[in-house]
Amino acid sequence: MADAVNEETVEEAAFRAKVRAFLEGAATLKAGGADLSNPMGNTDTSKEAEIEHTRASRAWQRTLYDNGWAGITWPKEYGGLGLPAKYARIFAQEESKFNVSVGMLSVALQMVGPTIMAHGTEAQKAEYLPKILRGEHYWCQLYSEPGAGSDLAGLTTRADLDGDEYIVNGQKVWNSGAHFADMGILLVRTNWDVPKHRGITYMLIDMHSPGVEVRPLVQITGHAHFNETFLTNVRIPAANVLGDVDDGWRVTQTTLMHERSMIGAGGGGVTFKAIHELARSCGVTDDRNTRQELAKCYTRFELLKWLGLRARAAAQKGNALGPESSVMKLFISDRVARDGDLLMAIEGANGMLTNADAPANGMWQQVFMSQWSIRIGGGTEQVQRNVLGERVLGLPGEPRPDKTLPFKDVPRN
Ligand SMILES: Cc1cc2nc3c(=O)[nH]c(=O)nc-3n(C[C@H](O)[C@H](O)[C@H](O)COP(=O)(O)OP(=O)(O)OC[C@H]3O[C@@H](n4cnc5c(N)ncnc54)[C@H](O)[C@@H]3O)c2cc1C
Repeated sequence: MADAVNEETVEEAAFRAKVRAFLEGAATLKAGGADLSNPMGNTDTSKEAEIEHTRASRAWQRTLYDNGWAGITWPKEYGGLGLPAKYARIFAQEESKFNVSVGMLSVALQMVGPTIMAHGTEAQKAEYLPKILRGEHYWCQLYSEPGAGSDLAGLTTRADLDGDEYIVNGQKVWNSGAHFADMGILLVRTNWDVPKHRGITYMLIDMHSPGVEVRPLVQITGHAHFNETFLTNVRIPAANVLGDVDDGWRVTQTTLMHERSMIGAGGGGVTFKAIHELARSCGVTDDRNTRQELAKCYTRFELLKWLGLRARAAAQKGNALGPESSVMKLFISDRVARDGDLLMAIEGANGMLTNADAPANGMWQQVFMSQWSIRIGGGTEQVQRNVLGERVLGLPGEPRPDKTLPFKDVPRN
């Protein structure tokens, strides 16, 4: 029901068959052939499970690379297949039925790679893009700080030039996957004499550099998915600046747009089919209210699918994503909140149970609790509404008294 198989062209259907044939040879189908398991619902919070997941994700990306399936939408000049976004979606639909995933490598593949392609030097492209496609490097994002989240441009991690290296000091926080990342994309302040957006530089950091200390933080789900990262006199070669010095805000917009649409298109790993299956297994599909809510749920999935295709197609034509990425981010935030309520309503009193006591080993409770990571990560709902209000509806901007002040004169605590 949720698949768009019947809307496919002959070429797309042939592509799907080819993908399916490859997957059947290279991976194993999920239990029962359904798409019931998903990354957000993972109930095993042990360190061993995480190590195995990162190993398996890397191995899967390598398999994709070796078999000519890596970087479906990446341009051919960078080793990709150069295909339109709808083909990546077909691949993802089929892949989700199998026990394989690229996991957190998606940060590298969907956020870092496109940013390096857009802003990198030839040397940077040659150094990093092939390793990303082969799944050799996990990347993490070192943007947020204790005093700079929604107001990211208020960041205070500093970088001072010393010969042909920068010396970096500061603290980052909420850095997903930093504890196993090989490389990071880092925002630092290099100029304190200009307004906040104009003194930021974007750097590529080797996470194994001396002075990088990563401390995991445990979330409501029990997973330690993200971290605090302390940077003390870390030396980063000046050649690792992506784009121009002090022009990092512009570079970062590329990453943020890709991040929002990745979160929007990803859908949190849950499918309508899986929710429908849960309703069936709980015996509530004859209930009138549940049927109404399931219909609304299906509509949300369909709308998100088309929004995702539109954003990916625009990106592929080289058009800046702009506010569409905020629409998608807001839409998926709304979807996961409503789906979470629906899931718990479907389970009824069992919704209060967790882990082995709960249906599906507590997977749906994990999905419910994961909604906030989707709603907050990549920019909160309130912030997306501000973007849309100002850039699409043309409403008056928020008062920003610090926008024109040199950053060193902005009051901070
Ligand atoms: C699961 C997860 C993964 C993440 N991964 C990463 C990562 O890998 N790397 C990274 O750098 N960061 C990461 N983040 C951080 C994320 O980007 C920030 O949490 C987010 O930008 C919000 O910032 P904050 O937490 O500092 O909240 P704050 O900015 O302090 O916001 C607090 C509250 O105030 C509201 N608010 C703030 N400003 C405004 C405003 N102007 N108008 C209206 N309301 C406002 C917010 O909506 C929010 O409700 C992650 C977060 C999560 C939850």
